[in-house]
This record gives sequence, C-alpha cells and structure tokens, in this order.
Amino acid sequence: MTRHVLILGGTTEGRALAAALAEPPSLRVTSSLAGRVAQPRLPAGEVRIGGFGGPEGLADWLRGERVDAVVDATHPFAAGMSRNAALAAAATGVPLLVLRRPGFAPVAGDRWLPVPSLAAAAELLPGLGRRVFLTTGRQGIATFAHLDGVHFLARSVDPPEPPLPPSFEVLLDRGPFTLDGERALLREHRIDVVVTKDSGGAATAPKLTAARELHLPVVIVRRPPVPDGVPVAPDVPGAVRWLQHLR
Ligand code: NAP
Repeated sequence: MTRHVLILGGTTEGRALAAALAEPPSLRVTSSLAGRVAQPRLPAGEVRIGGFGGPEGLADWLRGERVDAVVDATHPFAAGMSRNAALAAAATGVPLLVLRRPGFAPVAGDRWLPVPSLAAAAELLPGLGRRVFLTTGRQGIATFAHLDGVHFLARSVDPPEPPLPPSFEVLLDRGPFTLDGERALLREHRIDVVVTKDSGGAATAPKLTAARELHLPVVIVRRPPVPDGVPVAPDVPGAVRWLQHLR
C-alpha cells in the first residue's frame, strides 16, 4: 500500500528529507512550500506551493490527500505554520513530527546578546554600534525601519520591501556561506554589530565564527518554542527512523 508523507518545507532539512525518502516506490512524498521565495530550490518528489488556509485548510488537505504522516521541517522561526500543523494533526489524528535542527551553540570568545524578538533587537542596536549586518530575513526588516543613525547591510534571498531603514543597503544572496567570505564581508563593510535569528545549521554559522574572530557583538533572537506535545527530531536520519517506526 502506498503511504503518503507530507513535508512542510522551505528549509535545507526539508529538501534533504525529501531526497532521503525519494527511493522507495511505496512512498508518496509531497513537499509543501509557502511560496515566499521567487525561485525556490525545489525538493525531490511532488511539490505544492502556497498556504493551506489555516489549520482547518491543512486538516482538509490531510484528509483529502490521505496523508499518513506529517513532518514539519519548516524554519525554526515559522511558528505560525508549526502551530497550524500541530492543530491539524490533533484534529485529524495524523502523526506529526517536528524536524528541527539544534540552535547555535556559543563558544568561548562569543559576545552574544540573546533577545526574545526582533523588536527587542531593534531596541538594543543604537547603543551597540553604527554599522549593522542584518541577517534576519527580508520579512523582519520593517522592524528596524524607524532606526536612523544606524546603517544597515541586510542579506536576503529576494529584495526586501518597504518600509526600510533610512540608511540601508541589501546584499542578495543565499547560503551556504564560507568563513572566508563572511570575514571579508564584515571587514569590507566595517560592520560593528551582527543581528541574527537563532536559526542553527551549518549553512549560516560561519558569520558567527567571523564575528567572534573580529570581537563583534551578535544580537541573537531566541527561537519560538515547538508546540506542546509534538515529538522533535534534530536531523534527517532521526526523521526517517520516526517514519519507519510508524509502520
Ligand atoms: P509562518 O509565519 O509560520 O507561516 C505563515 C503562513 O504561511 C502559514 O499560516 C501558512 O499559510 C503559510 N506557510 C508557511 N510555511 C508553509 C509551508 N511550508 N507550506 C505551505 N504554507 C506555508 O511562516 P514564515 O516564517 O513566513 O515562513 C514561510 C516559509 O519560509 C516556511 O516554509 C519556512 O520554512 C520558510 N523559511 C522561513 C524563515 C523564517 O525566518 N521565518 C527562514 C527561512 C525559510 P496558511 O495558514 O494559509 O496555511
């Protein structure tokens, strides 16, 4: 009997899981993307793009497409989608796993300033430096739009939309990034403070190493919690094992 796994994606881990599940023909794998990125990297298998219409829409989709298991491999900061997935799984009885990479771990020499939100990061910035490297994604940039007297270099996959801070430049790029590249970027742009989310993952960690080497403070936004009661796997092999045990 063909089993159907829905991967809520938009991440490196989501693509890696879709690739890991591509082999057995007895498995139907659908990856779902929000549609935020103009030219997304497409995972193996079937792909659907766009919102489901809240938890009820997702629950309808799970029933209609006869989904046997859901893996929420969304970004650690996609809290709305994770909440919807937990509600839809509870409503339909479809087993749900969160595939979430561990957060960044500080090491000796790091000057990290953890904050609970982007707004809290914006409050801290004027006291910390005048040239900020902002790597929190284009959707959050509006939170910094009121800050004058601070220059922002933002890096994002697609161009951000207004409102933007008065002194602002954007670097369109997507990871993985190298340590040499990050070091050069921080030096060339004379960055004196970095702002990031605690996304975790190797693809974006080199900026933290480069900041440590240059003794720069890093304002780091803490992750929202995983919905209560939902099991978590830290990596793709863990998610594959969870799926195997469902049989
Ligand atoms: P969000 O705020 O948690 O979700 C908002 C709405 O977008 C959801 O209610 C859902 O709409 C739709 N959505 C989100 N992820 C979806 C998915 N994988 N498939 C179908 N619909 C999805 O999400 P977000 O923070 O905007 O992130 C959107 C996507 O970008 C996610 O897939 C995430 O993995 C990826 N991403 C996010 C970040 C980040 O920093 N937040 C970084 C890198 C990648 P409906 O209610 O209509 O279903």
